[in-house]
Amino acid sequence: MAQRTDALVIGAGLAGLVAAVELAEAGRSVRILEQEGDNSVGGQAHWSLGGLFLVDTPEQRRMGIVDSAELAWQDWLGSAGFDRVEDHWPRRTAEAFVEFAAGGMRDWLHGLGMRWFPVVGWAERGGAMADGHGNSVPRFHITWGTGPGVLAPFLRRIKKHVKHGRVVINCRHRVDGLTTTQGRVAGATGAVLAPSNVERGQRSSRDEIDVFEYGAEVVVVASGGIGGDHDKVRAHWPVERLGAPPARMLSGVPHHVDGRMIDIAADDARAAIINADRMWHYTEGVANWSPIWPAHGIRIIPGPSSLWLDATGRRLPAPCLPGFDTLTTLREILATGHDYSWFVLDQSIIEKEFALSGSEQNPDMTSQSWRAVLRSRLSSGAPPPVEAFKAKGADFVVADDVAQLAAGMNRLTGERLIDARELEATITARDRQVVNGFAKDAQITAIHGARRYRGDRLFRVAKPHRLLDPVHGPLIAVRLHILTRKTLGGLHTDIDGRVLDGRGEAIPGLYGVGEAAGFGGGGYHGYNALEGTFLGGCLFSGRRAGRHAAGQL
Ligand SMILES: Cc1cc2nc3c(=O)[nH]c(=O)nc-3n(C[C@H](O)[C@H](O)[C@H](O)COP(=O)(O)OP(=O)(O)OC[C@H]3O[C@@H](n4cnc5c(N)ncnc54)[C@H](O)[C@@H]3O)c2cc1C
Repeated sequence: MAQRTDALVIGAGLAGLVAAVELAEAGRSVRILEQEGDNSVGGQAHWSLGGLFLVDTPEQRRMGIVDSAELAWQDWLGSAGFDRVEDHWPRRTAEAFVEFAAGGMRDWLHGLGMRWFPVVGWAERGGAMADGHGNSVPRFHITWGTGPGVLAPFLRRIKKHVKHGRVVINCRHRVDGLTTTQGRVAGATGAVLAPSNVERGQRSSRDEIDVFEYGAEVVVVASGGIGGDHDKVRAHWPVERLGAPPARMLSGVPHHVDGRMIDIAADDARAAIINADRMWHYTEGVANWSPIWPAHGIRIIPGPSSLWLDATGRRLPAPCLPGFDTLTTLREILATGHDYSWFVLDQSIIEKEFALSGSEQNPDMTSQSWRAVLRSRLSSGAPPPVEAFKAKGADFVVADDVAQLAAGMNRLTGERLIDARELEATITARDRQVVNGFAKDAQITAIHGARRYRGDRLFRVAKPHRLLDPVHGPLIAVRLHILTRKTLGGLHTDIDGRVLDGRGEAIPGLYGVGEAAGFGGGGYHGYNALEGTFLGGCLFSGRRAGRHAAGQL
């Protein structure tokens, strides 16, 4: 007879932890099953930058930003482009999330002890029409302590519940099947994996030493997305929208983000998977010079000034500007038949504009030390992690003039696609646009626009200048790879996280939360994300499903 608890939660990432806290705080007993070791609890959120999409906050107001639920919803709809019958619940979930992000979300998190960096970031600006894709205003609130700072309040609560016996965490327990009784999901079976001594994020063994079966009244699938399995990413790749998948990709997520559990829920419990072809991969990936997981790539979060060139040296057209429109840029790059592109910039731009995504790439903010932040961000030179990439990263070329730069770029790729004279002409044409405080070039106009936001002028956008002005040198070229990250589709759920079958009926006893459920509903982003909405979706869907499930028990 399988041991029973009120709830089983599959996956100890942010979404699973939030759901487990809600269940435990409603007095229910919870068992969390996690395939990785106990040093991996927290999942991807540990590695994240901790950026949260919040609307009309004190942080925004202090920076002079006027935001509203209406503007945020307009932006969301323009980005999502919901156009499928099955978008009913994703859209309803998105609407409820935007209300939450503009309403009680900040107070809830603030009450749990979370705080945010005072300068609000302007991610994914879109750069086309008012009712099209992108954030009209800065909304990316970086949590003090980055990803670990987002996890901390939930880990504290879980620890308390573990101590009192209400929550049990079984690590190295990989779920391989769901059990059902008379149409109701009744538990999970799987393998106990051999103890692991690898560091957090490193690939762990899949050696099995035992099997298990646990029963429960409800099962919450919180197993994350598919970005760590490139074969799966390629199998679902939307060729008609983005073109053929790239030959080479880097991984922006650990290997355990394998998506297996989504298929298990479909096979064993008749769960419907929707929007599997919607995904969010970045175009600014560089190979990590000190990799943790296989094919480990880091995303550059760029300011707007780097010149963006395709593999042949041709400038990408607007709105394919750094930080503006991720998927349009991805399509543009893939249309060239190459799987990489280039940033061309200089020392002044790298110092002010390059940020790297990830908690470990931002040790100053992760450590929650103001002194470390001020030292790293305001002293001369780029922040130390960025300088380290410039010095040691395989994708960086540094040179004193254009001829050397072009030679370095060709040497790096082994292809002779960059013509030094054409490169010089492209840069010179751009440089002629910065002489005035106005320009016809869309990128230069965007830079002037960005600098009218105080946060960008202070921290993120270099003063417009000529790239060929030696005062701002040396010149730098960065080869950018496609980096897998987020799964925008997944298990089809209603707004309370109940997993639906192919007819749209709730499957008794089964919930889906976080990235496994497309961050809510089976894909509440639609086709495009506004950033900060991934952690936000885990918080929202985990909380909502945990509360609903607790109320059913
Ligand atoms: C470097 C980086 C930076 C990011 N920055 C941001 C940001 O600033 N803002 C933002 O909004 N988002 C960000 N994200 C995205 C965000 O962190 C993730 O989308 C989110 O944390 C996913 O949480 P989750 O709980 O749904 O899944 P996960 O964190 O993937 O957790 C799922 C867990 O389930 C376990 N599991 C899977 N299958 C099984 C199984 N069969 N049996 C047992 N256990 C299983 C996995 O091992 C894993 O621990 C970032 C992600 C990364 C990697």
